[in-house]
Amino acid sequence: MTDPLILVAAAFFGLCIGSFLNVVIYRLPLHQSLATPPSRCRQCGYSLRWFDNIPVLSWALLRGRCRKCGVSVSWQYPLVELITAALFVLVVWVTPIGPLMASRLLLVCILIALFGIDLEHQILPNSITLPGIVIGLLFSLVAPPGWKDALIGALLGAGILYAIAAAYYLWRREEGMGMGDVKMLAMVGAFLGWKAVLVTLVLASFSGAIIGVILMSAQRGGMKFALPFGTFLAIGTLIAMFAGDPLIAWYAGFLP
Ligand SMILES: [Zn+2]
Repeated sequence: MTDPLILVAAAFFGLCIGSFLNVVIYRLPLHQSLATPPSRCRQCGYSLRWFDNIPVLSWALLRGRCRKCGVSVSWQYPLVELITAALFVLVVWVTPIGPLMASRLLLVCILIALFGIDLEHQILPNSITLPGIVIGLLFSLVAPPGWKDALIGALLGAGILYAIAAAYYLWRREEGMGMGDVKMLAMVGAFLGWKAVLVTLVLASFSGAIIGVILMSAQRGGMKFALPFGTFLAIGTLIAMFAGDPLIAWYAGFLP
């Protein structure tokens, strides 16, 4: 039973980290420094003071507007902060204190950043995925799933998507899947092991297909629409992280 105070602390910590993830999502694809300058209004350049920068609260008090020029500030900022806080609470709630909790919190941050960047820019930066693979493998030396499982997971994750990408290229003579997806699934394997790679891939493909059918039936784009696969991989990974074992057990129940 986790102390409610610890969960409240996790929520506050998550809000602050979520605020930083907003900076990462906005600046990293533009190759801007994450540390300086301090956050500014994109319209008028007003430098946010500390009281303009309190997660969720400042946005709500200013009713989603810049204090100086009144331009509207996207609801995506408080949403990223709230989602980070919620996932931090969930991780702290279900994970024993130790290296596993640290690795799960870090993976949550990475997934939120990749989700936002892929959605906005259709890229999965090497500067996140490649260190992510290394850090995932390092954590596996001291935490589940263990280094063998993590290594197999990284190779399997990269191998499956690379094979799909290569097959698609041979078939259509154009790139259907980016190498960013390949590195991202390798990272998922390094953090969560090979079983989670399969669960993630199934969930991502399934949700991608459902959203795709909805978009197509709504006549918003043809067969090839620009919803990036990395966003689905991020959602699939989160579900695999929290519900992977029950999902595998449920599926195994159908096997003879
Ligand atoms: Zn402004």
